[in-house]
Amino acid sequence: MNSCNIEPIELFHLLLKYFGPQHWWPASSKYEIIIGTLLAQGVNWKNVEKAISNLESENLLSPQKILNTSEEKLIELIKPSRYPSIKVKRLKNLLRIFEEKNFNLSYFQNLKVHDFREILLKVNGIGRETADSILLYAFNKSIFVVDAYTKRILERHGFKVKIKSRWYEEMRLYFEERLPKNVNIYNELHALIVILGNTLCKKNPMCEKCPLKKFFKK
Ligand code: SF4
Repeated sequence: MNSCNIEPIELFHLLLKYFGPQHWWPASSKYEIIIGTLLAQGVNWKNVEKAISNLESENLLSPQKILNTSEEKLIELIKPSRYPSIKVKRLKNLLRIFEEKNFNLSYFQNLKVHDFREILLKVNGIGRETADSILLYAFNKSIFVVDAYTKRILERHGFKVKIKSRWYEEMRLYFEERLPKNVNIYNELHALIVILGNTLCKKNPMCEKCPLKKFFKK
């Protein structure tokens, strides 16, 4: 039994009441979500928005067009999302798996979640958080997304990782085993955790203002 004192469904209700619905993922197509998840690696959303808007203004927000555009040009456009030369390579690597199936998203939609996850994780530069964000937000697959905020919040509330290198999977399962298998809840709760980590559970936590303060023991 983990000594974490956060019950995921209670966390969901408390955060939803406090912050309200977050309406993730803000995008107009599956491919925009897929591109956005990659650009969001290690940066805040404002940077991603600028990079997406640059691609949009050049009419390049499509996988075919990105794959046919030079790295130099893409690097310039996605510069606001930081590490642009690394991200352009990763983005092209990622989009090639869709190109292999003629960009037919139904093929991927019909895959079992863990088969699709394996394909994504084989792409150079795609880690679990990016893969799971694509699965959940672009394809509505029921997999819970964990990030650095989730880790920080759970650990501050007593979560003990059993095997250090498996912290991501242990935390993902902690949520999945305790929440109803409901994509809407997974979608909303991850977004709520991000806003909690961004606004209150920062490096110096602001517990007094936090809806979870009743659970926090120093
Ligand atoms: S701010 Fe404090 S009470 Fe809120 S989640 Fe972080 S540690 Fe818990």
